[in-house]
Amino acid sequence: MTADTTLIIGGGPAGLEAARLIGDLGQKAILVEKRDALGGIPIAEHYAALTHGFRSAEEAMNELIAAARANPTVDIRLSTEVVECSGAAGDFRVKLAKAGNGAGETLSVGSIIVATGFQHFDPGRETQMYGYYEYDDVITLADAEKMLKENKFVTPSKGTPPERVCFIQCVGSRDRQIGNEYCSKVCCGISSKQAIEVRQQVPGAKVFIFYIDMRMYGYWENEIYWPAQEKYHVQYVKGIITEIIRKGDRLLVRGEDTTMGRPMEVPMDVVVLAVGMEPSKGTKDVAKILGLQQNKYNFIEVPHGLDPTATSAPGIFVAGAAAGPKDLDDTMSMAGAAAMKAAALVAKKARAVA
Ligand SMILES: Cc1cc2nc3c(=O)[nH]c(=O)nc-3n(C[C@H](O)[C@H](O)[C@H](O)COP(=O)(O)OP(=O)(O)OC[C@H]3O[C@@H](n4cnc5c(N)ncnc54)[C@H](O)[C@@H]3O)c2cc1C
Ligand code: SF4
Repeated sequence: MTADTTLIIGGGPAGLEAARLIGDLGQKAILVEKRDALGGIPIAEHYAALTHGFRSAEEAMNELIAAARANPTVDIRLSTEVVECSGAAGDFRVKLAKAGNGAGETLSVGSIIVATGFQHFDPGRETQMYGYYEYDDVITLADAEKMLKENKFVTPSKGTPPERVCFIQCVGSRDRQIGNEYCSKVCCGISSKQAIEVRQQVPGAKVFIFYIDMRMYGYWENEIYWPAQEKYHVQYVKGIITEIIRKGDRLLVRGEDTTMGRPMEVPMDVVVLAVGMEPSKGTKDVAKILGLQQNKYNFIEVPHGLDPTATSAPGIFVAGAAAGPKDLDDTMSMAGAAAMKAAALVAKKARAVA
C-alpha cells in the first residue's frame, strides 16, 4: 500500500459505500472492519425491514457488501483495527492489527475516512426507571427488530403474541439529566415503522406510541406516520412515562397524558424503549488514535464550515453515524461526499509529485 490509497475505518453502510465509490473511481481503498462481518449495525443487530419501502435490511446490506467486494482495487480486512497513526494529509502512516493480536502491519495512505458508527443507548445506564434489566417484557427497538426479523413478535416472558404493545420515545435522547440533549433523529420513524410491522404480524394487538413530540424525517411523515395511524390504527399519545411496574402477569405503565393533562396508568404486555444513538466504542477509540476532536457527546467533531465530512485533522474525513445520529439516506450521502474528498486529495497529491 502506498500513499495513493484511502484507508476506510468501519465496514457499515457508510464505509462500504465510500469503498465502492473510491473503487469505482479507479483508486485504491483499504477497508478495515473490527468485527468478523461487514454490514455494520443493521447486520450485527439483526434489523428487520428498513424505512423506504420496508425492504429487508439484510438484502440491502448484502447489495452494498457485494458492490464493495466486486471492486478489484478495494482491499477488505475483517477483524482488523487501526492501532497507530502518524503523518499528515497526503502521507499518513497507519499501523493495522488483527483483533486480539498485537502484531501489526504498517502502511502509507494518502487520506482516511472514519466510518465507525454508533451504538444503541443502554437503557440500564444512569436510569433504571423503565426496568429494562428487571422485566423480560421491557425491550428496546433493537430487540424488537430481531423478533420482527424472525417474524415472531411475542411477549418474551410468555412466548405468545401480545395483546397490548407500547413504544416509549426519547429513551436516552433529549435528556439533560443523562447529558444527551440531542435528538437521535431516527427513533420516531423507526418506532412507527415497527408499530406497523407489529400490527402486520399480530393483527389483534393494540399498539400505542407515547411521545414528547413526534419528529418525522422528510417523507417518513407520509410513508410511515400517517399510514401507521390511518391504515394500522396505531394510537399516538402525547405523554410522559414516569414508571413501569409489574402487575399480575402484565406491566403497568404510569405517567401523564399531557394533552388531556391527567395521570394515566395503562396495562401492557410488551413495552418497547425507543433507545437513541450514541457514538460506538470504536468511534471513541479511533478519535483518540487519530487525534480527532470529539464533540461533548463524543461523536467526531465536524468544524462549523461548509464541509459536513471535515474533521479537526486535514486529510481525515468522517462519514455516517460516527459524526452524530443519522438515517441511511444521510449516511449514504455523507459517504459519497467523504469518498469524493478523500479521492480528490489523493489525486491532487499524485499530480503534485508527477
Ligand atoms: C433500531 C434502529 C433501526 C434503524 N432502522 C433504520 C431504517 O429503517 N432506515 C434508516 O434509514 N436508518 C435506520 N437506522 C439508522 C441506521 O442504522 C444508521 O444510519 C446506519 O447504520 C449508520 O451507518 P454507519 O456505517 O455510519 O454506522 P454503523 O452501522 O454503526 O457501522 C459502523 C461499522 O464500523 C465498525 N467499527 C466500529 N469501530 C471500528 C474500529 N475501531 N475499527 C474498525 N471498524 C470499526 C463497526 O463494527 C460497524 O461495522 C436505524 C437505527 C436504529 C437505532
Ligand atoms: S427521533 Fe423522536 S424518539 Fe428519537 S430522540 Fe428525536 S424526538 Fe425522541
